[in-house]
Amino acid sequence: MIKYSLNCKECDLKFESWFASSKEYEKLKRKKLLKCLNCDSLKIEKSLMAPRINKKEYITRDKEQKKITKIKKKISEYQKFIKNNFEYVGDNFTHEARSIHYNNKKKEKNIYGTATKDDLKELSEEGIDVQTIPWIEDSSN
Ligand SMILES: [Zn+2]
Repeated sequence: MIKYSLNCKECDLKFESWFASSKEYEKLKRKKLLKCLNCDSLKIEKSLMAPRINKKEYITRDKEQKKITKIKKKISEYQKFIKNNFEYVGDNFTHEARSIHYNNKKKEKNIYGTATKDDLKELSEEGIDVQTIPWIEDSSN
């Protein structure tokens, strides 16, 4: 047995009814045996309130997931580029960035590493150009 919330499109009456199965509901509807209790209209619809909301939420989540996957892919491509073209200096980033900036004899090189927010602020105040990018640890390796 299955209970459906039904809605009459004609008089907007909402009522509930039991059916043996969803197939039985479809059969009764097809045979025009499903009538409004109030106005005998055949324009009876299953009230989709709860399932519709669930489905919408699911689609939204799925979309979000796809977006996140796409962004993650972008970031990982970016990371690959940086790993191939930049020298990793880890926690020494602030120090290395300064030494490149102040020591003109030192060859310009691209470095990447980690720095705190305060470090970044100081660097930018000193006129040292740094870029921050989101970094995802590659858990598959
Ligand atoms: Zn009705």
